[in-house]
Parts: sequence; C-alpha cells; structure tokens
Amino acid sequence: MKAETTTGVEELLNELVGRVAGEVGLILFSLGIEGEFTDDQLSLELGIEINEIRKALFALYEIGLADYVRRRDDETGWMEYYWRINYNKAVEVLKRELEKTAKKLREKIEAETSTIYYICPNMCIKVSYNDAMEFNFECPRCGAMLDYLDCSKAVEKIEEEVRKIEEILKSL
Ligand SMILES: [Zn+2]
Repeated sequence: MKAETTTGVEELLNELVGRVAGEVGLILFSLGIEGEFTDDQLSLELGIEINEIRKALFALYEIGLADYVRRRDDETGWMEYYWRINYNKAVEVLKRELEKTAKKLREKIEAETSTIYYICPNMCIKVSYNDAMEFNFECPRCGAMLDYLDCSKAVEKIEEEVRKIEEILKSL
C-alpha cells in the first residue's frame, strides 16, 4: 500500500515537471542532483543547449522546485547562476499545484452549472440563454436552430477528476 502511494506521487511529480518544464526539465529533475550546480556546467555535461537548460530551470523555479543564487565566478569574474533542485519540497509543491488544479476545476463546474448554454448544431457559436433569446434561438451565422447544451456529462467528468485529486491530496 505504501509503495503504491509512493509510485503514484512519483508519477504525479513527473507529470507536473513535464508539464511546466518540458522534457529538459524532466531530465534535470530525474538526475537527482545533490547540491549546487551551474547551468553551463550542466549544459556541458548533458550536451543540451544552455538556453534550454535555463528555460527548464526557471520553469522549475517558478513552481518552487528549484532555487538559485547569483555569484561572481572567481576565475572568470562573470556572474553565474548557482542552482539547486528542491527535492525536499517536491511533495509540498505537488500538493499546492494539485490544490490549484482542483480549484480551477471547481470554478469550471461552477461556470458550467450556473449558466445555461445554447449551441449551434453546426458548431458556429456557444451562447448564454439570454443571448440565445436575443437571437430568437437561431444561429446568427448559419441560421440553424440553436440546441440546448446539456453539459451534465462534462460536469460529471470534471467532478470525478476533482474527487480523484482530493483523494490524492489526502494520501500525500
Ligand atoms: Zn451556426
């Protein structure tokens, strides 16, 4: 049971890292680098463009999975970024991101259920009930009769997603 949860967390983390920091981010994160490193060091070692590395690191930084300090390099005299990956904050970050996602989904449910929509069968437009009334329930583009949009199925799906996230959050 414990092992199962751990794998789940790892998968979710990888999914999160891949989504925000792309493939390069996933590679960096999976390296399990202990301690500080510079982006050009990593670029040389991995043979990945430094801009790609930086982009991924800043994306990880944005969600709190990486930190940096800027220091002058003693040899070159240039300012360098010294990075560190925050593996110890991974679960905390994952929690926060999942909570954000759940909140967005709940807002989506709220939006879908608080407004009645009508839709053109030819997919020209999706309008609120009031707008549909103004158009006499006719599509202003193609003239077809607007259909009531039943979003209960979509809402059910979103609700299920929220439930799943809540369960994961409980297990973290
Ligand atoms: Zn239409």
